[in-house]
Amino acid sequence: MNIQHYKQRLLELEKTLSARIGQEADQGRGEFIDSAHDVGDASVADEVASEEFTEAEHNSDVLQQVRDALGRLADGTFGTCIVDGGPIEEQRLEAVPWTPYCLTHVQRLEVTASSKTPTL
Ligand SMILES: [Zn+2]
Repeated sequence: MNIQHYKQRLLELEKTLSARIGQEADQGRGEFIDSAHDVGDASVADEVASEEFTEAEHNSDVLQQVRDALGRLADGTFGTCIVDGGPIEEQRLEAVPWTPYCLTHVQRLEVTASSKTPTL
């Protein structure tokens, strides 16, 4: 496995995501303040702002995982599944370089998550 290659990608992701999170938080706040004086538009502005904050939150989740992955690169456990310590597929690392799970365990987690969804 080419550690340097993944390190480069993770560092770039970290930079991109941090910049994006800053911008989105600013935009969300800006729109809310601009329209706040107009009572009719306040709720719409509020909605737009909260959507952007949600997007920023998602980005910060990924950013956290990217930073965790950089930590695993530093301590030499990068590329191994945190559930069973087995190797993570290279194809998977290529697609999602910050993943801490191999294909087997990410699928298991996805199944667990979806079984919690109530059936109507
Ligand atoms: Zn695993």
